[in-house]
Amino acid sequence: MLREASLRVTVPRLAVLSAVHGHPHADTDSIIGVVRAHLGGVSHQAVYDVLRALTAAGLVRRIQPAGSVARYEARVGDNHHHVVCRSCGAISDVDCAVGYTPCLTAADDSGYEIGEAEVIYWGRCPACAAATSATK
Ligand SMILES: [Zn+2]
Ligand SMILES: [Zn+2]
Repeated sequence: MLREASLRVTVPRLAVLSAVHGHPHADTDSIIGVVRAHLGGVSHQAVYDVLRALTAAGLVRRIQPAGSVARYEARVGDNHHHVVCRSCGAISDVDCAVGYTPCLTAADDSGYEIGEAEVIYWGRCPACAAATSATK
């Protein structure tokens, strides 16, 4: 993947990319934790720099729901969306509402060339919904 994106293959890049693959929607701190567990002393700055390079190359997608820190995922290019739990911040993937990327066909595009539609559904995850109904 790194070579296809014409990025030099380095140990930190491989470690960060595999951490993002293994932990979808992880924030920077969790990714640093995973990378350190494999590589030992990697600086925060090194991980930030690698995340920025991978995001710029399109290998990693950065999402940031309102009120959340930035999170990263390796599922890119399919215009999928996210559902976020208002209580605990859990995030899951949601495919485009119907069929293949219909959201990219805006009802009125005002003349813009549209390349991406970012939709966030807000609600409560199953665990939080169950916890609430149990206390009622
Ligand atoms: Zn929740
Ligand atoms: Zn996702």
